Parts: sequence; C-alpha cells; structure tokens
Amino acid sequence: MAITKTVLKRTNLRVYPTKAQEAVLSQSFGNSRFIWNYYVAIFRNKDITNKIYPSIKELKEIHGFDFLKLSSSCCQQQTIRHFQQTIKQFFNKKRKSKIGLPKFKKKGVSKDSIAFSGSGIYKTKSGEIRLLSLGKLKLRGEIDLNSLNRKQIKTITITKDKCNHYYASICYELEVTYEERDFKLKDKSKSIGLDLGLTHFLIDSQGKKIDNPKFLKQELEKLKYLDRCLSRKKNGSNSYKKCKLKRAKLFKSITNKRNYFFHCVSKSLIENFDFIYIEDLSVKNMVKNRKLSRAISDVSWSKFVSILSYKCDWYRVSLHKINRYFASSKTCNLCGYQIDKLSLDIREWVCPDCGEVHDRDINAAMNILKRGEFELAQIQNKKLSKGVCLT
Ligand SMILES: [Zn+2]
Repeated sequence: MAITKTVLKRTNLRVYPTKAQEAVLSQSFGNSRFIWNYYVAIFRNKDITNKIYPSIKELKEIHGFDFLKLSSSCCQQQTIRHFQQTIKQFFNKKRKSKIGLPKFKKKGVSKDSIAFSGSGIYKTKSGEIRLLSLGKLKLRGEIDLNSLNRKQIKTITITKDKCNHYYASICYELEVTYEERDFKLKDKSKSIGLDLGLTHFLIDSQGKKIDNPKFLKQELEKLKYLDRCLSRKKNGSNSYKKCKLKRAKLFKSITNKRNYFFHCVSKSLIENFDFIYIEDLSVKNMVKNRKLSRAISDVSWSKFVSILSYKCDWYRVSLHKINRYFASSKTCNLCGYQIDKLSLDIREWVCPDCGEVHDRDINAAMNILKRGEFELAQIQNKKLSKGVCLT
C-alpha cells in the first residue's frame, strides 16, 4: 500500500541577483551581522549580569543605528530568532556534543546569510514567489520555486559563499509517497551490512566493494600550488583576493563531486534493501590520528551516514548502527573466534579455529550484518515485552 507522508525538505537554488539586488543583499548581510555581533557582545560581556537585549526598534530609535532602517526588518527578526536558538542550544544540557560560546561574525570571513520567513515571502497574483525588499529572483536549480504553494515554504535563506555565488536555501514541506514497508512484510533477505573504509569507500556483506574516490587527494597538488601562491601574495591585495577565490572554487568543486557520489551510493542502497546495518563511527576521535586525519576528512563518512540516515527515514528502511566497540574486523564471521591483533596492513587472514580464509573488509561487513541483526532482534524483543507495536 502506498503511504503519503509530509517531510521537510531543504534544497539549494543558485541565485543570480541583479546589481540593485546585490546592493540590497550586501546591506542586509551587513545589518544582520551587526545585530548578531551586538547580541553576542552582550552575551559574552561578563560585567553585565542582568542581560537585556534591545529590540530592533530600540536599536534604531534609542541607540540611533539608523542604517538598520536600510534593510528589511523581517530578516533582522530572523537573525534574533537564530541567536535565541543558539543560546538555547548553548545551555541545553541534553546535547550530546556541546557547542562553544557564540562567535562574532567577521566581514569577508564568516558566511553571509539572511533568512526570510512569514510575511517576508509572498506570492503575487501571477503566481510568482517574491521576497520582501528584493522582489523577483532569478533562480536555477532542481525545483521551480513558483510551482510551490506559499504555505509549503517555511523559510528562504539567501547566502553568499566564498566564490561570490549566491544561493537560496529553501526549506519546504514535501509530500513523499512510498510503498509501505510494514515491519512484518520487510524482507529479511534484503539485509546488508556495510563497512566503511579508506582504501575502499564501502564494502558490503555481499562482497561488493566501492572504491574510495579520494576527491581531495586528486586535487591536492593544485591545492598546494594555490596555497603557495597565496602565501606569497600581500594580504588584502587584488591578486590575493583572486587567488583566494580560485582556492574557494576548487574546494567547492571537491565538495560537489563528493556529495553527488554520496547521493548515488545512498540511493542505490535505499532502493535495494530493507535493512541496513552500519558501524557507529566516532569520526571526531579518529581525526585525531594525525597520519590518517586528512584521508578520513576526505572520505567524509559522517556526511555519507547523515545522507543515508535521512533517506532511510523517508523511505522507511531500517538503519541500525551497531555498537562501536564491537570488534568487527578481528572476529571470524563463521565460528566467532576472535584474534588478538590485526594490524591495518593485513588485508587477508586465516582463522586459526576453523581455517577459513577471510578478506579483512568483507569479513567485517558480514560481522556487522550478523551483529546488527542480533542487536535489532534484541531491541524488538524488548519492545514486544513492553507491548509496543512494531512498525
Ligand atoms: Zn573461524
């Protein structure tokens, strides 16, 4: 049976602003940065015990910051909301990873952005979506903004990146239709264990290996060359800016290639499997290993896992992360014998107990599958004993 569910989707469209719109955006970015920094300064000032944040109206009228009148207050409100959320997260004790003190934004260094919501976005009678103070935008991307209902659109954030490109990040509600995968109807044979590695990006329990594309490594020579150029140039000069732009563009192309690769791999997994098991990686700790840190950052497992997670959630594929302390490489998947040591350069090993020859990575993936199925069954038993319905 097909089921329709409403999900929040975010998509990026390239914006081509006119000269006039660029000027408006520049002013708005500046004002938004000013308000953010003003609030951060109050928050970080230890001498102020009773912290009172002035409203936008007070900033304009009492404090005399007249330039705030030059851009739409709707975006300024949104900056304040953003600040409040950050503070809330700062004091949130339940957060897994703590965030630091809110930082000041610096012109030309921090990413420029403003967000529109509520009355900041409106639809004209002819069916065009427009933004307050900016008007009609020339956009290019995977969706046609005008085809969306006004109610669907939650926020539109305009950003300018280091390559001087403008983007509109549109957060909107989308109805996704998928075939219902009832837990009981889900096909156990459509289960797969995934091991993420450095030589191969992904190794699955069926023996398939996907090479690690090493997008950063491919461009490393170019990047080093640009870094050398940059270090010779005078800070702030025109040629310095040019070189910096080139470097930013290179980084962006690397990220784009990588994301495209992730979307392809995750899509094929979602389409072919009902149960996906994966290791719960602690990338933060791994990056501390200096010899491997660049390679680990290049492979970007966590980005891949986050893409895979939300897609699994949308299409109701079970994604289970197994305990990170499980020795997936060192255990024989046939007899369960665990060897003491297995250094990173050994790709194949023979189980001393049953004599089976193992490919290191495929063995690990098969173990992840086995362990995952075991852990998931345990969770379900617990749920069943509590009388929770399995879906
Ligand atoms: Zn064995």
